[in-house]
Amino acid sequence: MMTRVCKICGKEFTPTHPNNKFCSALCKELNSKNYSKSWRAKNDGYITIYMRSYRARKKREAAQNA
Ligand SMILES: [Zn+2]
Repeated sequence: MMTRVCKICGKEFTPTHPNNKFCSALCKELNSKNYSKSWRAKNDGYITIYMRSYRARKKREAAQNA
């Protein structure tokens, strides 16, 4: 059986499933927390840009209708 290095703590472990990337449920949880954090950071920027263009468009539309 192949061993793998945990992406979170760097410990060598034997995966129970081919897709296992983490040595334990804790490391898996830590990874998902990190992931959602970076996902939020990325998407907060996206939402800011989206809202800015949305408001600009609404303003343009309002100006056209006036
Ligand atoms: Zn680990």
